Amino acid sequence: MSSMNIPQSSYPRIVIIGGGFGGIALAKKLSNKDAQVVLLDKHNYHNFQPLLYQVSTGGLEPDSIAYPIRKVLQGYPNFYFRLANVMEVDTDKKSIKTNIGEMTFDYLVIATGSETNYFGNKGIENNGMAMKTIPQALNLRSLILENFEQALLTDNLHEREALMNFVIVGGGPTGVELAGALAEIKKGILPKDYPDLDTRRAQINLIQSGDRILPAMSEQASEKAERFLEKLGVNVWKNIRVTDYDGKVVSTDCDTVFEAATLVWAAGVRAVGVKGLDAENLLARGNRLKVDQFNQVQGVEGVFAIGDVAQMETEAFPHGHPMMAQPAIQQGRNLGENLVRLIDDIPMKPFKYRDKGSMATVGRNKAVVDMPNIRFQGVFAWFVWMFVHLYFLIGFRNRVVVFINWVYNYIRFDREARLIIRPFKKQNRAERDTLKQE
Ligand SMILES: Cc1cc2nc3c(=O)[nH]c(=O)nc-3n(C[C@H](O)[C@H](O)[C@H](O)COP(=O)(O)OP(=O)(O)OC[C@H]3O[C@@H](n4cnc5c(N)ncnc54)[C@H](O)[C@@H]3O)c2cc1C
Repeated sequence: MSSMNIPQSSYPRIVIIGGGFGGIALAKKLSNKDAQVVLLDKHNYHNFQPLLYQVSTGGLEPDSIAYPIRKVLQGYPNFYFRLANVMEVDTDKKSIKTNIGEMTFDYLVIATGSETNYFGNKGIENNGMAMKTIPQALNLRSLILENFEQALLTDNLHEREALMNFVIVGGGPTGVELAGALAEIKKGILPKDYPDLDTRRAQINLIQSGDRILPAMSEQASEKAERFLEKLGVNVWKNIRVTDYDGKVVSTDCDTVFEAATLVWAAGVRAVGVKGLDAENLLARGNRLKVDQFNQVQGVEGVFAIGDVAQMETEAFPHGHPMMAQPAIQQGRNLGENLVRLIDDIPMKPFKYRDKGSMATVGRNKAVVDMPNIRFQGVFAWFVWMFVHLYFLIGFRNRVVVFINWVYNYIRFDREARLIIRPFKKQNRAERDTLKQE
């Protein structure tokens, strides 16, 4: 027995670090194969990140977008899950160190995803909000509601407005979707919840450093999404770079200064690395691990990386595949087949990405969809967006709950999960760090 109580087996041991999109897709491919599979994650659930913004804005309960990893693996023979934070990898000894013990591997797959990148800006990191994990989404939900409760109590008009203002930095899908959801709350919910506040004065500012929002999508999608947002009352600022935030004032590289008690940073991510695989020659831009066409970490035999953490440079994707769910899922599936081939001594198949397109929703009846051969926007795009998200959500119960919530919210123009369950106050640095580790 190893120190993590995983029995020795005659099968080769495949250790997967991370039960996200990539790790789960890989694990599913390895069910019923001649291998012992150990999946490690610091959370006991899979987090469906594309719907985090709905948790932050009270549209969904967090448990409808999280799914127990043990349930995914139920019934798979030779599968083991351990709730563990992996701290270090020793590629020579083929072993890993975690907070609950050490273990050896025959094959290792790093599927640790990505985290918010503040590009070293401490002001923004300490005072802004991120939305990458469920605890962070709940923190944001609490903060938004607490700010409105506080706005009711102040006689100072200036302070009141700042408490009701939002700055969202980053015009990618996360920023756009969050801005749209906040605009809908401002219009449909806040006036009823806070009749004694002039919530019309709340400003929702979406700030993008480039010259268009949704830069990874077509120009048509960007323009339409911007028009949708403006229709909802969102102020879209382009070609402005946010340089600092002290919790009240947002500084930028131009004359515009924003006063807002809530700043959400959605302007960058970087891969979550693992110690032992952090040599300079292994890392590409954004901390990603350089991998070959089989997802093997360059020059490190038996060690693979998939998803956000992996950078596979190809002719079509010279800077690696987009950090999105589809590349992670497809790499997980391909690697699953390849590991079986490797064990059976059959040549591996190179990874080929099938781009299924991208999409973003701005709000009720408003979404933009770019598919490889067709682009469309509006109501139909919104239905497609909902269908695709329901389809990829893990768990039948979650799909049903999310669907019912969406129908209810649509009919009632409501979002009833606007609850302050665990109050969030802007803490000092040390306390924030403790919360971030959750
Ligand atoms: C707000 C938001 C919205 C998004 N919207 C979309 C969208 O609409 N469409 C889309 O395609 N993509 C979207 N993405 C991106 C998408 O979620 C990621 O690209 C995808 O999750 C990457 O999958 P992954 O398997 O690489 O990593 P993840 O799904 O992030 O999984 C990584 C896992 O590794 C675990 N882990 C990390 N480090 C350790 C460690 N040291 N020890 C143990 N476990 C560890 C984590 O707990 C996590 O479970 C969005 C992301 C965010 C944050």
